Amino acid sequence: GDHRDLHSFPTHALPIYMYRSHTNGALRIEDVNKEVTLAGWVQKTREMGAMTFVDLRDRYGITQLVFGEEHIAIAKELGREDVIQVKGLVIERESKNKNIPTGEIEITVKEITVLNKSKTPPFTIEDETDGGEELRMQYRYLDLRRKPLQDALKLRHKLSIEVRKYLDSIDFFEIETPYLIKSTPEGARDFVVPSRMNEGQFYALPQSPQTFKQLLMVSGYDRYYQIVRCFRDEDLRADRQPEFTQIDCEMAFVNQEDVLNTFEGMVDYLFKKVKGLEVDAFPRMGYATAIEKYGSDKPDIRFGMTFNYINEETQNKGFNVFDQAESVIAIVAEDCSTYTRKELDKLVDFVKTPQVGAKGLVYVKCNEDGTFKSSVDKFYNQDDLKAWADKCGAKAGDLILVMSGNKAETQNQMNVLRLHLGNELGLRNPNIYAPLWVYDFPLLEWDEESGRYHAMHHPFTSPKEEDIHLLETEPAKVRANAYDLVLNGTEIGGGSIRIHDKKVQAKMFELLGFSDEEAQAQFGFLMNAFEYGAPPHGGIALGFDRLCALFGGQETIRDFIAFPKNNSGRDVMIDSPSAIAKDRKSTRLTPVTWPSRM
Ligand code: ASP
Repeated sequence: GDHRDLHSFPTHALPIYMYRSHTNGALRIEDVNKEVTLAGWVQKTREMGAMTFVDLRDRYGITQLVFGEEHIAIAKELGREDVIQVKGLVIERESKNKNIPTGEIEITVKEITVLNKSKTPPFTIEDETDGGEELRMQYRYLDLRRKPLQDALKLRHKLSIEVRKYLDSIDFFEIETPYLIKSTPEGARDFVVPSRMNEGQFYALPQSPQTFKQLLMVSGYDRYYQIVRCFRDEDLRADRQPEFTQIDCEMAFVNQEDVLNTFEGMVDYLFKKVKGLEVDAFPRMGYATAIEKYGSDKPDIRFGMTFNYINEETQNKGFNVFDQAESVIAIVAEDCSTYTRKELDKLVDFVKTPQVGAKGLVYVKCNEDGTFKSSVDKFYNQDDLKAWADKCGAKAGDLILVMSGNKAETQNQMNVLRLHLGNELGLRNPNIYAPLWVYDFPLLEWDEESGRYHAMHHPFTSPKEEDIHLLETEPAKVRANAYDLVLNGTEIGGGSIRIHDKKVQAKMFELLGFSDEEAQAQFGFLMNAFEYGAPPHGGIALGFDRLCALFGGQETIRDFIAFPKNNSGRDVMIDSPSAIAKDRKSTRLTPVTWPSRM
């Protein structure tokens, strides 16, 4: 029925629509005997004797139409996706369809108008379509007619509304910041736009509104947010979009705890409002702990299988690989001692794929009878293996998996294996939500390629007070007031308490290898602003597309974006990017034929 909250509008403000009296999801058994007007797309037609049944679809649902003999000619002509308008009478159905909300009624059609014929669509407009990925991207407007996509965009809408409600309720202002800005180094490449009025000069599209939101804090706006498009010209990894949306937020006069509480509150609120779920207080985990236990700064804590370091237990038994390794790391797959040779071989093959890049995998089966069977029985006896099992907390029936090597690399590889097993063993249920905060990130990260430090979050992130003394001597050890919001193994947000002192900011730029002149040229505006009473401030940005996908229980963000780009950053529907005419001096099409209002 009417999905609007009638109580919040004076009734005279609600428009009355002439084209249709109801949507295709509205009519129920109570409406029997009403004269109605419906409009929509022909999903399906079925002929039964002199009658034709048509499923009429719009984004609200499907209503069954019945055409009698008097309309047989026109009904026979109806094809999939034709747009029609019908007037008719609501009647009770003889054979009811319990699967759809309108399944108890149908419409006896009295009048029909074909509003527009459709070509036969290149794929079926059904929940499970027969269209391939590329074809559906090319005809995105048709793919968007399908219910799964309509549900996805409805969820996105709902989330954006609830985000605004929550933030508005605690005094945040939604403020727009410019899209045509100046290059900011935030780890990715900028998209650039030539300026016609300033020949030879370029704007950059924002990777995020970072500096602007900080300036808004200097301006006293105190609590800012924006659901905003960001642009990053990155090498496309699976499920990355060159333009994506963030819930971008900044607050003044806050410390880290204030920011975490505010946005934990927001995510709680979204879970409650959108999914009807209550979530427990988010656990908080130091970055170092996350790496040590999960080999990842975005651990999926829906399941255990945390890392055990078994160097001591494995040394000096003649197994060179372990003896020479910086780290020997073991995880326990519960109740997997029954894995067959074939299953184990598959795991070994998996860790050797380039995706993991490990040299090998050692296993220990903890048999039900208390004995052990390992792939390194040549070097380790039953007592040795028992010591491993004890260290790992493995019990009879479990399978221990071990990898070794350079610590950071092995942690990385183990992380991939752990997630792989989590998937295989069904431990990553998309209907379970396990959010957490990861904090105390390192301030800097060494970049081999450029031979210098990079800001791990961004150059405006403040170092932890107690680590500042290490800035000169051991910069790699300095921790930042930076935090990530992690959900089910995915980073959904990140932020920091910012530097608000010009001198500290200048020091930071110096550490990052900027000369004074470069820093001034790039960020002079920000450092100057910091001289005019910059309040302490901090914030966060949440990846909105990803958040939608997670709330929708989906892996990929693409279905939650109306018009996404494909994996090579192309929009195959409008065929972009594309070449532009060589002689075009300006960024305007010549000859100018656009209507002036476009
Ligand atoms: N601007 C940052 C980002 O896009 C988020 C933040 O620090 O608030 O990741």
